[in-house]
Amino acid sequence: MTRKAWLSKFAAGHNAVHARLAQRGQVASALCPRCHEEIETPEHVLSCRYGDPRFEECAPVLLQWGKKTGAAPGLMETIVEGISTWRKQPRTPQPSRRYARSPPLAEAVREQQDIGWGAMLMGLQSRRWEHIQGEHFRNQGSLRSGRRWVTELIKKFWNTAWDMWSYRCFQVNTGHDEEALNLVTAMDRHILHVHRLGTNFVPPELHSLVNCSSQSLLRRPVEARLAWLDKIDLGREYLTGRQAPAAIRGYYTRRLVQGGLLARLRRSKLPPTLRTNDRAPQKALLTIEQEEE
Ligand SMILES: [Zn+2]
Repeated sequence: MTRKAWLSKFAAGHNAVHARLAQRGQVASALCPRCHEEIETPEHVLSCRYGDPRFEECAPVLLQWGKKTGAAPGLMETIVEGISTWRKQPRTPQPSRRYARSPPLAEAVREQQDIGWGAMLMGLQSRRWEHIQGEHFRNQGSLRSGRRWVTELIKKFWNTAWDMWSYRCFQVNTGHDEEALNLVTAMDRHILHVHRLGTNFVPPELHSLVNCSSQSLLRRPVEARLAWLDKIDLGREYLTGRQAPAAIRGYYTRRLVQGGLLARLRRSKLPPTLRTNDRAPQKALLTIEQEEE
């Protein structure tokens, strides 16, 4: 799905937000799977406090983009502050006060308030931003167009909305990996048990493996813990001359390595990469062409 198609679906609530899934009977609750406090609408995905770390990554990038593209003084700061204040209190948005001494900015904020800041992230912005930016370009004797600039800004916001959405999915989907996490927890319990048995059932060549504190053992990476367990198990089989039952033998290796849970565990640690970037469009893209006049 292209970013634009995704966004229009997302904005219309046709995406897999819980409000929608609950309507279709696919999930029991329309509540947000992250905070469990509000109905999960597209706007909530953009404002849920569990998305804070992601928005905090995007905000400085957007401000940087504003600097690179010659945004009117205070314009991007006002917008980013507006969105960020709205995210903190989506239901009772507070007007931005910092730039209230600039009447055009204050007016734009008021109008955006009515349209909604979440809507702005989805591409619905007050025309006043465009006018302020256009005026700024004109005052500088620039031929660049406020409308073109705002169009570029909207593309940035699409990326930010996507970033908020993919982060939400990342957070929700790590729920599936509870399976992997639970398995590792079970493995650690088993390691502690084996470690407590000490050198009793371990051939002398492997005593050094057991002669360490259980804490230092559990601090090793999962792969190293798994290897430790495999070695001890093999050593024990060697010593007793008996193979463990097939269901138990190499159980954790089978599930974690062959079963792919280890790979999932590794993937689940990394949030999706940010699409929001501060890349400025070519100057020509911001310039009014003759035929437009
Ligand atoms: Zn939430």
